[in-house]
Amino acid sequence: MLTYKALEEKNQFERLFLETASVMFGQDMEELSKENLYQALVHTLRQYISNNWIQTNKYYSDHEEKQIYYFSIEFLLGRLLNCNIMNLDIGEVCNLAMQHLGIDLDELFEQEPDAGLGNGGLGRLAACFIDSMASLGIAGHGCSIRYQYGLFEQKIIDNNQVEIPDNWLKNGFSWEYRKAEKEISVKFAGNAYMKKLPDGSLLPVHENYTTVSAVPYDVPIVGYHNGIVNTLRLWNAEVSENFAESGNLSHEQLQEKLNFQYRLKAITNCLYPDDSSKKGKILRLTQEYFFVSAGIQSIVRHYKKLNLPLIKLPDKIAIHINDTHPAMAIPELMRILVDIEHMNWDEAWDITIKTMAYTNHTILPEALETWSIDMFKALVPRIYMIIDEINRRFLINVRDRYPDNEEIVHNLSILQDGLVHMARLAVIGSHSVNGVAKIHSDILKDYSMKAFHEYYPHKFNNKTNGITHRRWLMVSNPQLSEVIDDLITDKWRTHPSQLIKLLDYKDDTNVFEKLYQVKQLHKNNLSKLIKIRNNITIDPESIFDIQIKRIHSYKRQIMNIFHLMHLYNALCENPNLEMTPRTFIFGGKAAPSYHIAKETIRLINTVASIVNNDKRANKKMKIVFLENYGTSLAEKLFPAANVSEQISTAGKEASGTSNMKFMMNGAITLGTLDGANVEIHDAVGSDNCVIFGLNANEILSYYQNGHYSAWNEYNNNSAIHCVVDQLLTGPFTKNGDFQDLYNYLFGSNDEYFVFKDFPAYCQAHKIIEKKYQDKNNWQKSSLINIAHSGIFSSDRTISEYAKNIWNIHPIKL
Ligand SMILES: *Cc1c(COP(=O)(O)O)cnc(C)c1O
Repeated sequence: MLTYKALEEKNQFERLFLETASVMFGQDMEELSKENLYQALVHTLRQYISNNWIQTNKYYSDHEEKQIYYFSIEFLLGRLLNCNIMNLDIGEVCNLAMQHLGIDLDELFEQEPDAGLGNGGLGRLAACFIDSMASLGIAGHGCSIRYQYGLFEQKIIDNNQVEIPDNWLKNGFSWEYRKAEKEISVKFAGNAYMKKLPDGSLLPVHENYTTVSAVPYDVPIVGYHNGIVNTLRLWNAEVSENFAESGNLSHEQLQEKLNFQYRLKAITNCLYPDDSSKKGKILRLTQEYFFVSAGIQSIVRHYKKLNLPLIKLPDKIAIHINDTHPAMAIPELMRILVDIEHMNWDEAWDITIKTMAYTNHTILPEALETWSIDMFKALVPRIYMIIDEINRRFLINVRDRYPDNEEIVHNLSILQDGLVHMARLAVIGSHSVNGVAKIHSDILKDYSMKAFHEYYPHKFNNKTNGITHRRWLMVSNPQLSEVIDDLITDKWRTHPSQLIKLLDYKDDTNVFEKLYQVKQLHKNNLSKLIKIRNNITIDPESIFDIQIKRIHSYKRQIMNIFHLMHLYNALCENPNLEMTPRTFIFGGKAAPSYHIAKETIRLINTVASIVNNDKRANKKMKIVFLENYGTSLAEKLFPAANVSEQISTAGKEASGTSNMKFMMNGAITLGTLDGANVEIHDAVGSDNCVIFGLNANEILSYYQNGHYSAWNEYNNNSAIHCVVDQLLTGPFTKNGDFQDLYNYLFGSNDEYFVFKDFPAYCQAHKIIEKKYQDKNNWQKSSLINIAHSGIFSSDRTISEYAKNIWNIHPIKL
């Protein structure tokens, strides 16, 4: 029964909803579409949120709370409605009100477009981080770009990936608040130089620039049950009002300027669809400076309202740059302090370093950002001058410390070989440099940033990534969440480390059964979805083995599909082969320009269509490629997984975060000792995950000694020999072969050691299969994984950033 208070609240919510719908659409409820109802519900929530937002900002300003700004070129938010209802603690009233009105709430959730303003892990991490900051009561905000088009929508047509533009704003974005009065001007191009004044001093001048106006769209980030609402500020490029009438330009000059202006307006049109690979396009550099300049200018403007001396800025503001894309925040803050606030260089530099912190996300050389100096100078001439000066002063110190060692200078200089090295700028201009998993931070210190580590040992630290357990467990798996509540109370919801208490039940078969039932429920649901989307019939009792992530050679989806070709061959030879039925599920997008990744998708789909339709095999195995992997599809997959495929070449995956989402939902990791897999293995032990393959040191030795030979592996291992040959001839090549994959593998000397790790990978699968046959043993491992997943909540990660990097404390409203 409802309490009187609950009933009152429900009635109030219902009234507010009806009123909102009527004001928004001026139509009778019966006439409103699901889209209309969805928007009305969001606008109802906005009234709750706005109130809290105002209170939060008032508290921050009254107490002069230190603010942290998390700069990231991507925020892969996904849908917000379900999470916001939960965080506002209005789940029950909302449910009751919708029930009473005969509206299916789940259907409204499905109306929301995914805010796909990111490619994958890096953007999703940023989204988890702002969720944790708000929920922990940390005054932390996001800063990014309001892309008109998010990451492309992926369709699979004739086994190939086809990219469709993601026009996610077509019905508007109901969560955003446009703040026209907070617009900022960002200056591009023109000439910058030092002008000598009569008294002999030098004055920086930037003239003939073109201005583009940056308008913020603020998205409220709602904390969990704590009344706090922080801000994600997304900048949109617009034309400055006073632009057309720029004085006495000739017609031609005006034409030229208008053209440039037109190009600038397009700055925020599209997200770059490349994950972990640089693309030296000028538009990308323009995007970077655009949001960084707007963000830093607005932060300083805000700070100045406090009427504190600039020297105190690092006491009140911390700025974090997520990878190097926002690294121009460093020279931009210098520009404002020196050019506009007329500070002397040394003082400004001291403030800048104390304010900035940098997270490195990759050691793949092709993903380290560099820009041609010529292009850089032309686009942001004053920023270039400042970087040049930062570098000049830095190199004086380096040469002081390492006299006559030009090799060190070569390795540390920001400006080298005609390029601006963004990671070097980020390290030099920050007080903290962190990697995202223990092994990754060690590799940074010992190899890829060895010289910098020697120079600035105190700057380097590790902050192992995390995921928000609110979205990835509470919202996506409410059934499991309830089972956990019943066992250990709901305290884990605000203190996820409490999940460890589940270990009390590690021998309780009744609990195993409950966990099994929840898993089966999600496997049934996913089977239905696969039937609808792919028209493939899945056995919900089979082992669900899932690899979902961007398609990339180093992530080795190729090794996974090779294993399935291998299994298929075995079943063709002996259809009576004993095998636990298994379903292998893939999902992930390839960068449109990444040919090998797209061919991998074609191979997976080609093999799937053969295997799924062959009676000799399809009772034992099915292969599914789910198109358009993104946040909301992910929420349906993790709860249904038995096996988490984390099979990157050791040393290549900085952290990975899907490994954590799987673990938290009770899947068993089948993986290499790479990224956070190492820490998952440390936490759960060898009995509760399956580790295989070369380790990072072995891989490194091969790279260094050059003793690896793809041909040798191919010639000495019949299993790999057979599947590699099947790229060219055999059952999978009826509609064209996979010559390009074949050439790639040999041409690169199997750069990611697929051949070498293949036997161990097949063996690991045998162990998994055997383990699954012992249901109790499997459920026990599953429970142990869930129990240890608390340390991978981004609440833990953010608490570490707050304490050790930002020096900021949580508040309570
Ligand atoms: C978690 C997540 C990722 C990152 O996955 P990895 O396997 O760690 O690369 C990418 N995309 C989406 C939608 C995610 O939710």
